[in-house]
Amino acid sequence: MSTIPKRIKVGPFRYKVTYRTPILADDNTRLSGQCDHTNLRIVLDHTSKKPRQFETFIHEALHAMDYVAHTDLREEQVAQLSMVLTAFLLDNGFIPAEGEQAA
Ligand SMILES: [Zn+2]
Repeated sequence: MSTIPKRIKVGPFRYKVTYRTPILADDNTRLSGQCDHTNLRIVLDHTSKKPRQFETFIHEALHAMDYVAHTDLREEQVAQLSMVLTAFLLDNGFIPAEGEQAA
């Protein structure tokens, strides 16, 4: 599984990628990740398994892109896109699958 970058650039903004556990929503449910547009930060649960963590990273990056592009995607659309985009990156060799060496 590839290394998740420490920072990503989305439009004109640089989002910092950090790790924390637990990540709690306003209603106290536990989250695997969170995108904070105000502080330009993506937070990931460091106890998640690597493939799940990578999919969460893509999911939160899509939230950042949605915010910058004003596309107003629904949560379900972000979840659907993150699953197919993560699979696309893994299945087509952009990201080495777990246990594989990077080229
Ligand atoms: Zn989401």
